[in-house]
Parts: sequence; structure tokens; C-alpha cells
Amino acid sequence: MTGRSSARTRKVGEEADRICLFPRDARGGDVQRLYRAARRLQKAPLTSLAALRLSEAVRSGDAVLLMTGAGAPPELPAGETDGPLGVAVLARALHLGLGARPFVISEERSLGPLRAVLQVRGATCTLLPFPCGREEAGYRLVEELRPAAVISVEKLGPNPKGVIHDMRGRNVSASHASVRGLFDSARERGILTAAVGDRGNEVGFGLLTGPEVRPRLRTARCRCPCRGTIGCDIRADVLVVSAISNWGAYGVVACLQSIVGRRLLHTPQEEAAMLDAAVRAGARDGVTHASTLTVDGADLAVQQAVMTLLGAVK
Ligand SMILES: [Zn+2]
Repeated sequence: MTGRSSARTRKVGEEADRICLFPRDARGGDVQRLYRAARRLQKAPLTSLAALRLSEAVRSGDAVLLMTGAGAPPELPAGETDGPLGVAVLARALHLGLGARPFVISEERSLGPLRAVLQVRGATCTLLPFPCGREEAGYRLVEELRPAAVISVEKLGPNPKGVIHDMRGRNVSASHASVRGLFDSARERGILTAAVGDRGNEVGFGLLTGPEVRPRLRTARCRCPCRGTIGCDIRADVLVVSAISNWGAYGVVACLQSIVGRRLLHTPQEEAAMLDAAVRAGARDGVTHASTLTVDGADLAVQQAVMTLLGAVK
């Protein structure tokens, strides 16, 4: 890619980053703070950095491994609406834009909504269940697939004490698959890792919880006996912080389409169809726990507004 086109992608990333940080509730300050820390550390717009690194790492025919997984019974029997849409949009974009062969993993309960959304989006990929409490499964998967990139979108991950927390600070380790082994294995093999998150308890935020930034960052304290914070300490090579994780994934796709010169982003109407499919398949709002066309408490109209704005970035 030429210097000029990479500068253009960076400008798209600057706009996309801002759109994806749209404050969706009164607690928006938390994500702005996480964003500033991630931006300071990575020294570039986050969405375009992820897109540029992916376009460098992934060649036609390469496998890419994507994942999501947040929320468990009783409140969220099939996971939440944040994550599956972002993964589906990104998987399709990597397939059509870079020729990748996407594999998507998640906890068994989230496969229904994922399958439904992938179908609506028309994304060609292989869906695999990822078991809870079996770290070696991650090593094996990386060994078998030899992916060119490993990408997580809204995948809850463990803090330095090995405890996975939800955003309320509860210990949800038993009901969520840990992908530490998978990320360790990817790192050992020099495979690009990229992550999107919105609270700090998701995979990728290890980039911000190292000793050099932890004292300043202060991710929310947990409310379980581990007495740690909810901050996940699994690092990714590139971390995208957005107000809602789906949006960060869409932002990366906005930058990818600028790189490959082909329309990859979906319309506000397609956003509605995907969200409807996810909810019909059992996904619920991760904040309100309601079976509504909402993501993290934000209405469908807000999701569609973000799509309108991302679609307008040239
Ligand atoms: Zn804890």
C-alpha cells in the first residue's frame, strides 16, 4: 500500500474512531478514558491501525480466527447482542476484502445468534463451539488452523488473577471460555492479534493493564473475592476501544473498505435485520437483559445512526 493511501486510511480511521466513541450513556467517561490510554500507547487512530495491520497480515486463502462471547444464563441464556454483529460484519469483510477464510468461535450458547446473524449478513465462514474451562483447546485450534490473524470482539477475558468478570464485577469464570491459551499460542507463533472492547474486561485490554499504565487506568474494581479489577490482562497487538464493541468492528471495516477500494460496510437497514435475527435467536441486551432490538441499552435507531455516519466517511 502506498504512503498516500495509508494516510487516507488513517484519516478515515480518525473519523471512524470518533463515531464509534459516541457517548451512549452517562457512564461514557469510562470508555473515553480507556480510548485515550489506548490511543496514547498505539500512537494512531485505532480502527485504521487494526485495518492496516490486518491487510498486511492476511493473504488470500489464509485462515483467520474470530471470536466473541459475553453473557451467560440466567440473564443472558444465549449471550448478548454486542459481539455477534461485529464479528459477522468483520468476518464477511475479511472474506470479501482480503480473501480470508474466516473461522468463528464462541461458547456453545452463542452459536445460535451468531449463525443467524452470519446468515443475514451473507458471511461465508465456519462456526465452531469453544469449550469453557479447557485452555488446551485454544492451543490445538491455533495449531490446526494456523490462522494469519486472531481477532476478538467483545470476548470476556480473565484479570491477572485468572478471574473472568462481567461488567458488574461478578465472577463469571465458570460460564465463559478462557482464550488465554489461544492468545499465548498465537503470540508464540508471531500471529497478529487484534481485539475490540468497550469496558476493559474484554480480551485485548492487557495492552492497557501492564504495570506502566495500570495505576493511571483503574478499570472498575471487581465485586468477587479475588479483590482485583475487572481489567482483562490478555494483550492483543492492536486494541480498538469503542463505546459499543460492535461499533469498533464496524469502524475497522470502514477503514478496510478504504484500503481495498470496495464497499464492505452494511446499511442501517441491514443493521436492523441483523439485530432482529440475533434477538430472535435468543441474544439479549447485555445491559438491560431484555429481548429487545437494543445493544448495551442503546436503541436500534442509535445503532443505525452510527451506520449512517460511518457510511458517510469518505
Ligand atoms: Zn474478582
